[in-house]
Amino acid sequence: MKRRRRQDIGTIPWEPTRYGNSHLGIPLEVWRPSGPCTLLIHAGIHGEEAETTIALSRALRLLTEPSHHCAVVLAANPDGLTRGTRGNARGVDLNRNFPTLDWKSDPVEHRSTLDDPRDVKLSPGSGPGSEPETRALVELIEELKPETVVALHAPLACIDDAKQGPLAHWIAERTGLPLVADVGYPTPGSFGTWGGEHDIGVVTYEFPLSTTDALVREHVPVLAELLAGEAKWS
Ligand SMILES: [Zn+2]
Repeated sequence: MKRRRRQDIGTIPWEPTRYGNSHLGIPLEVWRPSGPCTLLIHAGIHGEEAETTIALSRALRLLTEPSHHCAVVLAANPDGLTRGTRGNARGVDLNRNFPTLDWKSDPVEHRSTLDDPRDVKLSPGSGPGSEPETRALVELIEELKPETVVALHAPLACIDDAKQGPLAHWIAERTGLPLVADVGYPTPGSFGTWGGEHDIGVVTYEFPLSTTDALVREHVPVLAELLAGEAKWS
């Protein structure tokens, strides 16, 4: 698939559709593929990881036509992105709020930066799938039925796939990031666990700690190949 000229990449040329609303009423948007959906890539489920939204948007803007096979969610947690918080507007870490068998009501503890202890507390929600952003993403995936979902995060610098599937191998090889089977600490109620329970492949693509500019240079070409169907992994 051709790429748009640099002069033309300032805007996203196709309209998204709304798949729900955030708690604050911001539209949850998806750019749908022109054909059957086999892949979905989402970014910004943690509002502190705005670099994932920026990189995925840039990759989408490089396409000359909508992806044939890949749906794109640029901002899975728009309230967190506008407020600059990891959680949504209700203080819930959405990546611990999915309706999984292992969902726990214990507070979520995370590091505010990689060098800090894991002691900043967030809520996993009042129950599994309690948040509108979580429920809407689940319903979107149930409707689109992708085989695989790539979840963009930062800054752990790894490709995490419990099944170590072929797409995860491809991304790890293409980016030089290590392929791991887990992130090294429990993540009850995570999107990856939910996907595993529903036979959906989930690859967590963790950008390294870097500037947005450097991440765009290194990772936008990889994301564009995924969107354009040029990544051959099976
Ligand atoms: Zn994250």
